[in-house]
Amino acid sequence: MNKMIVSLSLLMVVVMSSSSPAADRVVLVIHGGVGTLTIDEMKSENHTREDYEAVLADSLRAGFKAIQAKGAVDGVEAAIRVLEDSPLFNAGKGAALTADGRAELDASIMEGRVTGSGEGKKDPRKRAGAVTGLMHVRNPIAAARAVMEMDQSRHSFMAGTGAEALVLNDANRAKFNIEKVENTYFWTERRLKQVRPEQRDHSTLPGRDRFVGTVGAVALVNGSLVAGTSTGGVSNKLPGRVGDSPVIGAGTYADDRACGVSCTGTGELFIRHAVAHDVAARMRYKSLGVVQAAKETIAELPDEDGGVGGLIALDTKGVPAFITSPKCDGMYRGYVTEKGDVFVAIFMKDEWKKK
Ligand code: ASP
Repeated sequence: MNKMIVSLSLLMVVVMSSSSPAADRVVLVIHGGVGTLTIDEMKSENHTREDYEAVLADSLRAGFKAIQAKGAVDGVEAAIRVLEDSPLFNAGKGAALTADGRAELDASIMEGRVTGSGEGKKDPRKRAGAVTGLMHVRNPIAAARAVMEMDQSRHSFMAGTGAEALVLNDANRAKFNIEKVENTYFWTERRLKQVRPEQRDHSTLPGRDRFVGTVGAVALVNGSLVAGTSTGGVSNKLPGRVGDSPVIGAGTYADDRACGVSCTGTGELFIRHAVAHDVAARMRYKSLGVVQAAKETIAELPDEDGGVGGLIALDTKGVPAFITSPKCDGMYRGYVTEKGDVFVAIFMKDEWKKK
């Protein structure tokens, strides 16, 4: 019996160390995408790893502050807004561009709440909002939240001009703090270079150029989870292409009976394998822990050149998971504990760095 307890505790240590070094409960996890640049590539763009770490830490601090002041939805939105406003990540400013050189942005957000009777205009259980193909909204995550929460919206997933008309009317702009911008606001030299020189064939782009820096967050407050994801998609995508990030169940999912999940990687694959939902389903149906469920989900994806992708997840006990497919050597990522301690990492072999 004693032997069994010792091996069980050892197993728990291994599981915890593969996810986070802290014994404290984690209340917020974030990612800034797989396909991380090498240190040399960062240098060639006049950046250092510290630049990336600083934005991750800012995002975590903003998210933590919002969690304390207002709750999990605000925490996810605040954390993602910081990443969307940074040109270093593939979301908002700095988003990957379409083959014709424009930004078409996607985002989604979901609450894991499963109790409640459906009172009010919208059933409070498993609410979600998603947007795709936005071209003039500075912070797509705020638009996704607006779709989830606004009284006039009977819908969960809105696209293109219809989505923009809804979230950019005067009342919603003010209520949800949504800013209208020109499409040129999103363009950065790095992203223009990826699509302009030769209008390259998408299939020939190396993995790193194709999906670098989609962003996401999962927050936990009072046993309830919220997950969100925001992206420019993949560089050189066809106009109109939609990836996994705004698709509930593929790029984003939350369920208080299991976990919250935000994914990054080859969107087409993540859609076909319903990756985010799959993690929650494995926890519910197989009684797995969040780390094991995330590992199994990613391990079962086909192994593709250039890496497939990864995900972050958080369960209702505050146990996080940060898992990538074997060919991904990094995922910008971080977490905050309930005490407010902030940790970040970039490459998969990195130790967590306290910020
Ligand atoms: N999953 C995103 C997409 O396919 C890309 C990424 O994660 O970087 O749109």
